[in-house]
Order: sequence, then structure tokens, then C-alpha cells
Amino acid sequence: MDRQQEFVLRTIEERDIRFVRLWFTDVLGTLKSVAIAPAELEGAFAEGIGFDGSAIEGFTRVYEADMLAQPDPATFQVLPWRGESPGTARMFCDIHLPDGTPSLSDARYVLRRTLDKAGEMGFTFYIHPEIEFFLLKPDSVHTGRPVPVDDGGYFDHVPKGEAHDFRRQAITMLESVGISVEFSHHEGAPGQNEIDLRYADALSTADNVMTFRTVIKEVALEQGVYATFMPKVFAEHPGSGMHTHMSLFEGDTNAFYEPGAPYQLSKVGRQFMAGLLRHGREFTAVTNQWVNSYKRLWGGGEAPAHLTWGHNNRSAMVRVPMYKPDKGNSSRVELRSLDAACNPYLAFAVMLAAGLKGIEEGYELPVETEDDVWGLTDRERRAMGIRPLPASLSEAIEAMEESELVAETLGEHVFDFFLRNKRQEWADYRHQVTPFELERLLPRL
Ligand code: GLU
Ligand code: MG
Ligand code: MG
Repeated sequence: MDRQQEFVLRTIEERDIRFVRLWFTDVLGTLKSVAIAPAELEGAFAEGIGFDGSAIEGFTRVYEADMLAQPDPATFQVLPWRGESPGTARMFCDIHLPDGTPSLSDARYVLRRTLDKAGEMGFTFYIHPEIEFFLLKPDSVHTGRPVPVDDGGYFDHVPKGEAHDFRRQAITMLESVGISVEFSHHEGAPGQNEIDLRYADALSTADNVMTFRTVIKEVALEQGVYATFMPKVFAEHPGSGMHTHMSLFEGDTNAFYEPGAPYQLSKVGRQFMAGLLRHGREFTAVTNQWVNSYKRLWGGGEAPAHLTWGHNNRSAMVRVPMYKPDKGNSSRVELRSLDAACNPYLAFAVMLAAGLKGIEEGYELPVETEDDVWGLTDRERRAMGIRPLPASLSEAIEAMEESELVAETLGEHVFDFFLRNKRQEWADYRHQVTPFELERLLPRL
């Protein structure tokens, strides 16, 4: 047993932990959890805990159903929301097959593999997500009629709204599970909030996003409200995104930083951004995986719909945020298209892979667009070489199907499962006769 594992066992004894939850994520980004007694833990570290992979979305075909979840001791955390004693803790797991090889369905492994590739090129991938979500009245889910808990707007202080100290409680709980928060504020729409996590390596951040969604849902439950990461809840208000700031480090040096270059962004940074733009259409099905995701992308409200980049351009898909001259190491690029309802492991993997491809192939960065691309006509956009993001899940699937980069990054198993699942979602959606059609057409036809 290594020292981290010993530390976990010691802490469990000292803190009277009776339940250890082993967490992992299915291909669509749903958190899975199995609780084990502390006595089982040594075995779990050594061999993993068996489960039936065929019952988990995107895992195995039935004939190779046995899988093992092996906890990663570096992710050990006591959970604050189940009461202190007897306590509950959790660890994220890596998934193996009985012969010890990594499961090809494990999203965490997909990200690890891509991070290894960055490592071979000499890079560590750091990211910082801005996570937006809505707080709704609890009935919203059952009635299918979402009602926000307040009518605040961007940066509003909402002293009397329901759940008014929600962010304070949420942040306190996030910090108590080891997730550092940098900023938080009320977002543009009624009931909408944003919490930004501090920079960390991409694997920890993906784990943190999974934990974040759970913590936010727990705190909401405690306060009698409902929290949702659904990308577009209200047609008339902005949706919820997960803008993600990215940089590559070589040791302690930010490889995106070059003093004197435009926006202090180095060649590596420009090529990374060029990779995001070149492959953006192909990976959008992963970063924006639901039918509803495209209602956000095409619904205005500062969400991007075109593959452009800019400095201070909020309609751009990639933005180079304000540079602070004394903080060279903070040079970064911000991807604004993805939403928080993605599988963060897969999303971060395809984003990184696209950026690395740009570096490997030495892609040229297209010209910056400072115009509001929404204000241009289709013709003007075409003349400027501005391509649209996929307009629907269906278009996104088509773009992904053709993508060698996404296939290679996700691996054949995840790639095939994901596409099959998403084609089905699109078919189910297309099958609907919507209230929109009935209201528009029934009186006329
Ligand atoms: N909520 C907007 C979106 O869907 C972003 C607003 C902002 O700039 O933070 O991406
Ligand atoms: Mg925001
Ligand atoms: Mg942002």
C-alpha cells in the first residue's frame, strides 16, 4: 500500500468514517456512486470493487460486463453534507477490466490519455471553469413550468430573494470539500448564478466539476429550491454556459505567455486557439451534448454561435481575456461555447486534443473578429470566412461522425456509444409534435 492509501485508511479511522462512496462517471456525465464499508477499502485499493458495467450508460456490451472501480486516493474527501458522525467520504475511481487493463469506457481514462499526450509534448494543461446555473422554485421540475427564485440580474445583490445566501453556503461547502472558488455573482437572468473555480490541472478540475454539480444540488435541496445546469431553461433569458479558461504550462512557465506579442499570447497560444477554431464544429457534440444545448448557442444572451475569436468580443467562441501586465502567467484563452451539462472529462479531452493538434500542425490563427457577428448578414460572415457552430444536435452529430480527431481522442468505444446515444436522442426529439407547432399551425391549417 502506498502512503496516500495509508493516509486515507488512517483518516477514516480518526474521523469515524463509516461509509466510503466510490464515485465515477458514465459516458454522458452522470455521477455514479457505490458505498462501501471501510473494511472493504484495502481490497478496493488493491483490486477494485466489482460492478456490472452493462448496467451503466456507455460502459460495456453484455459479454464483457464485469468491471472494477479502483479508488484514486488522491481524491479522498470527507463529505460535509451527510452529518459529521458517523461520517461519509468519497473518492473518484478509475475503471479497470478484470485483467487489470483500463476500461475503454471510462471517461476519466479518456482525459488521462489526452493529458499524457500533452505531457509527452512537454505540457501540463490548466483550466478554470465559470459555471452558470439556475435556482428555481422546487415545483418547477414536476409542473414542467420553471419559475426562478428571484428576479435579479447581472451582479445584482438580491437581499430578499429566496435562497439569498445560497452562494455563501454553496461556497462554504465547496471549500470544505477542497474546491477553491475565485468569484461568484448573480448572472444575467432571474434566478441565474455563476461560480468560478480557481485554476487547477484538468483532471482535478473535471473531478471538481462533478463534485460541484453535486454540492450545488445538495445545497439547493437544503434550502428548498431546485438547482439546474440545463443549458437553456427560459427562451427569453440567457442560458447557462461553462466558459473555460485554458493554458498550457511548461514546468512553471505559462507557454501561452509572450511579452510584447499581441495580447501577450505566444505562438503556442495562437496555435492552440487555431486548433479550437478549426476543430470546433467536430467536438461541439461533446461540449454541448443535448438537444437543448443548441437552444442556448442559437438563443443569443451572449452565447457564441460562430467559430470566431476576439479579445473583448462576447459573441466569439474563443476569447482572449483581459491581460494584466504584471501577471504573465495568467495568459490564457477562454472557450465560451461549452455548457455545464457536458461530461467534463470528455469535453476537456476533446478541447485539449484540438488545441494540441493546432500546435502539432502549426495551424495559422485566422483574423480576429471584433465585430458583433450577430450583427452581420450570412453573406458578410461567409465573405469573412466565419463558419457557424452546428445549429442543432443533429448537425453536431454529423460533424463529429467525420472527425478523426474526436474518434482518436475518445477511443472507438466511447465514440461509437456516444454517437449512437445522441442519434437516438435526436430521433426522440424529432418525433415530438411541440406546443409551438400546435399553437402556430392548428388555428391556421
Ligand atoms: N450566460 C451566457 C452564456 O450562455 C454567458 C454570460 C457571460 O458572459 O458570462 O454563455
Ligand atoms: Mg457568466
Ligand atoms: Mg466568461
